[in-house]
Amino acid sequence: MANWVLRSLARGIRTTRWPRAEETSLGVTPGRPRAATGMSAEAAERCPTAALMPVEHGVAVGFERCVHCQRCRHGATAMPWSGDFEWTGGGPRESVDLPARFRRSLHVRYVDAGACGGCMGEVRLIDAPPYNLHRFGIFITASPRDADVLLVGGPVTEAMRTPVRKAYAAMPDPKRVVAMGVCAINGGVFGASFASAGGVGEVIPVDYVIPGCPPPPLAIIHALLAVTGRAATQVTAEQP
Ligand code: SF4
Ligand code: SF4
Repeated sequence: MANWVLRSLARGIRTTRWPRAEETSLGVTPGRPRAATGMSAEAAERCPTAALMPVEHGVAVGFERCVHCQRCRHGATAMPWSGDFEWTGGGPRESVDLPARFRRSLHVRYVDAGACGGCMGEVRLIDAPPYNLHRFGIFITASPRDADVLLVGGPVTEAMRTPVRKAYAAMPDPKRVVAMGVCAINGGVFGASFASAGGVGEVIPVDYVIPGCPPPPLAIIHALLAVTGRAATQVTAEQP
């Protein structure tokens, strides 16, 4: 019997205790750059997406544009880097609250609207034993007709405009839309073109955004907890 089977039998399945306890395991997040006081404009020049912006007292960060290329992480002008994963920004567009019962019974339909594969790889992990989405009463559903939340990844290719609209229209009210990853927020590395809408918000209304490229599983779970009011949203840009 392989050693890993013996280890699994001995240890059992280890699900993160976050958010009840801090999650410090290695590899659960790539982290992200943070705004820095006193940093020269040279640091911002290394950023290919203008996520780093020189301002009066240092360098600001727009998380919605950071594609995690890591260029700003090393070298003489390295930005400070945090190991957090609670990245969700935004909030509900409608004044209609989700009913309180949704807090422990939320159904999510996810749609690949032209993602590179990275975001979809991460979203598949939220069901896996280390993250165990079901412990929150949150479930992935096969049909938008049963969904309270539409989780969309990718910049929305032309071929996916209509399916995304149809999925949104098929959902019962009240409903929420979460744009997952920078491509879904603003087109990311694909941008807007003859082949890409340049973000989910160009096609259907968006409530919450998860910066990252891709956002790790815990960042996606944080977004779903924010939708149910069980986690606070964060700012999507930071000033020094
Ligand atoms: S990691 Fe993000 S902020 Fe840093 S250079 Fe790359 S895109 Fe810009
Ligand atoms: S945000 Fe990054 S990982 Fe997600 S679809 Fe876009 S390029 Fe891929």
